[in-house]
Amino acid sequence: MPGKRIAITGAGPIGLEAALYARLRDFEVVVFEKGNVADNVRSWGHVRLFSPFGINSSEWGRGALPDADLPAADALLTGVEFFGQYLLPLSQHPRLQGCIQENTRVLTIGKRHFWKGDAIGRRSRLESPFTLLTESQQNGEQVIEADFVLDCSGTFGNHNWLGDGGVPALGERQLSERIDYLLPDITGKDESRFAGRRNLVVGSGYSAATVIVALGSLTEQNYDTEVFWLTRKSTDTPLSGIDGDTLRGRADLTARANELAANAASKINWFPASYVRQIGKASDGSIQVTIETNTEQGGANCKVLTIDNVIANVGYHPDRSLYEELQIHECYASQGPMKLAAALMGESSANCMTQSSPGTDTLKNPEPGFYILGAKSYGRDSRFLLRIGLEQIQSAFDLIAAEAA
Ligand SMILES: Cc1cc2nc3c(=O)[nH]c(=O)nc-3n(C[C@H](O)[C@H](O)[C@H](O)COP(=O)(O)OP(=O)(O)OC[C@H]3O[C@@H](n4cnc5c(N)ncnc54)[C@H](O)[C@@H]3O)c2cc1C
Repeated sequence: MPGKRIAITGAGPIGLEAALYARLRDFEVVVFEKGNVADNVRSWGHVRLFSPFGINSSEWGRGALPDADLPAADALLTGVEFFGQYLLPLSQHPRLQGCIQENTRVLTIGKRHFWKGDAIGRRSRLESPFTLLTESQQNGEQVIEADFVLDCSGTFGNHNWLGDGGVPALGERQLSERIDYLLPDITGKDESRFAGRRNLVVGSGYSAATVIVALGSLTEQNYDTEVFWLTRKSTDTPLSGIDGDTLRGRADLTARANELAANAASKINWFPASYVRQIGKASDGSIQVTIETNTEQGGANCKVLTIDNVIANVGYHPDRSLYEELQIHECYASQGPMKLAAALMGESSANCMTQSSPGTDTLKNPEPGFYILGAKSYGRDSRFLLRIGLEQIQSAFDLIAAEAA
């Protein structure tokens, strides 16, 4: 659509796919990326995706790279392979030349001459351009205008906290530099930090399971390596898993992590119904963690562990400061956009593979022309899949076409 400008925040897989989709329809596009292309995927580059390349990539993306040596549709790539073999070539596509501004952070987004409470539900709000305040070392602060905005800035890296109820544990804020909130490469480049050490892992999702399995293999090579694993619910196994999971990699990961927790001979010490109450640094540089475990009788026991590393895989949340001056209706539980969040709450299956995209309408917000896509659209709900994000892009452009008409 010539003459219409689309600004995209984030050059992750969904931001890049959306940018190409827009350029193939002749929109003017600018993508702002606070780091480098696909920074988040590269940060967990050593982890293997559990869904195959064929559903992680779009038809239009693969079609635009006829000369690239693309992976097979059923290939299970690591993050680094997905980046090198697909996302990087996609970002270098001639149609995206000059469109991606790396090392440029979007600070916040508003509407020219319209404050947050103005012109609710009026067409005049749509007709006024968005103003994006950006910052980069090269250009300092700038204000850029756009007719439509796609917020594809993900959630990875905006970590949740370790303590009870999701608030920081006592001392956590002061010690956060010593805590791994992402996914360290335990059997690769970060091995020396974890081998022969006492390591605490907190969390019960697939990230925690990935870390536990990696630590499990370290304990087999280095007998001095010890692992303590805290999960907050009182369940029979740390991960509940999905009945009849069709994704082999994910099913194997769940089974292996649960097996390590159950095996008394393994060096993985699992504490269910537990959370971190306090964390601090001892004079010898080690970390002292007070953990609280709820008892079946309704009380709680406290225990102090002296450890070397804390890996907090306790989830991520969206950065809502980007759109706090816009009219966004968000869910009070997941912090995702309300309509989509409501549809996801009605989705009973824990298996994200069986999820279908809840439909075009669920992407709509009170703010016309603004769409939250990709992992950020699910807020704190970790079930997002790239396959869904690719469907969202097509739906968002149906809405944009109607709004631009
Ligand atoms: C370990 C792991 C394994 C996963 N495996 C799978 C899998 O097998 N299959 C699957 O379908 N999904 C998987 N996912 C889930 C999901 O598909 C990925 O998280 C995916 O990277 C989401 O893509 P995205 O583009 O929405 O966000 P991201 O990849 O998080 O990209 C967001 C981008 O926005 C940038 N950014 C953030 N804030 C700003 C700002 N203010 N200004 C400018 N730029 C900004 C970031 O630097 C980043 O580059 C996995 C996730 C993780 C963490």
